[in-house]
Amino acid sequence: MTITLSGVSKVFGDFTAVHPLDLTIPEGSFFALLGASGCGKTTTLRMIAGLEAPTSGSVLLGEEDITSLPPHRRPVNTVFQNYALFPHLDVQDNVAFGLRRRGIKPVKKQVDEMLELVQLGPLARRRPAQLSGGQQQRVALARALINRPRVLLLDEPLGALDLKLRRQMQLELKRIQTEVGITFVHVTHDQEEAMTMADTVAVMYAGRVEQRGAPAELYENPRSTFVANFLGTSNLVAAEITAVDAAGIQLRTDGSGGSADGADDKLRLPVERCAVEGAAAGDKVLVGVRPEKIALALAADASSVPPDRNRLTGRIRDASYLGVSTQYVIDSPACPELAVYEQNVARDARLAPGADVVLHWDPAHTFALDAAQDAEAGTGEEAL
Ligand code: ATP
Repeated sequence: MTITLSGVSKVFGDFTAVHPLDLTIPEGSFFALLGASGCGKTTTLRMIAGLEAPTSGSVLLGEEDITSLPPHRRPVNTVFQNYALFPHLDVQDNVAFGLRRRGIKPVKKQVDEMLELVQLGPLARRRPAQLSGGQQQRVALARALINRPRVLLLDEPLGALDLKLRRQMQLELKRIQTEVGITFVHVTHDQEEAMTMADTVAVMYAGRVEQRGAPAELYENPRSTFVANFLGTSNLVAAEITAVDAAGIQLRTDGSGGSADGADDKLRLPVERCAVEGAAAGDKVLVGVRPEKIALALAADASSVPPDRNRLTGRIRDASYLGVSTQYVIDSPACPELAVYEQNVARDARLAPGADVVLHWDPAHTFALDAAQDAEAGTGEEAL
């Protein structure tokens, strides 16, 4: 069922945890609320569940206004990080609990179906203490799903699992959601988790949704520095727009002015990839490019770089070999500490610390953000 939050906010004392929020979560979608600790995502989820009353605004399920319905009257179930299983009941009785409480009999067929869905049939007679974390998590899921909620809310459901199990359960949760087809709303601070599972991600920051969209759209086209830095890594270079025309936006960096071989820095990007409305010559922006989009050439070979590429000059400060890729840190007159990730296909041993290089990439992979923001937002190093 479609969930609509309309002007929903939450104020605790003099602290606004969630600023007025408009959000539509389409029926049948896997929707993730992603953000750092304290950004208001759990509070938002709790307002959907009815565990927290909004200070303003309304919560709709389909056409129905459920803002003042108590939690147990909402067709919504929540799975929490700590699972909250009954320790004295075995797996099948934990799963049957919701049906029995509502006086439904017999329960066996439905319980068996649920155990099959979460692949726990053979463990039906075990108690929670005899299960691994991932298995307990599946019981919690089955116990919620057996009530056939219209919406399942998941609050950091994989938070207690180790990394490998988390990855496994992410795929498992996605499979289950596809199979049951109900709306899942998932709260997490783990960007990889959100991107793996969700069709739509809403990135929250300081009580507001900064941007929402499909994972690839958010990654490729961030509209704020927080989203650019929180989802993966971004290089953000201070620059000034020199021209806007049919061919796109042209820019100049502060450090522009030539390189060892005399080739000038060059930056262009398509107009639609600029997050500044009505951008014009003279505007200051932060030019962004993801580290894996950048290729490296030795400065001595700069003439081999095709003329239609964006380019910056720099010197390699550090190179870390990671097997599948090498990660470089490069200081450029335009910006210190640029990150570049190169696949180890044909490694050039001359690309080593101290080497003068040209960084080059497709202008279509460039984005621009309003320079009036904290360039460090979302890196974990910003001043909050
Ligand atoms: P986390 O991942 O750490 O759970 P979150 O993004 O889910 O973070 P919330 O739990 O929604 O964050 O909390 C948002 C802000 O509201 C936090 O600063 C928190 O301290 C505050 N907050 C939450 N509940 C209350 C409450 N009952 N009274 C006062 N402040 C609260």
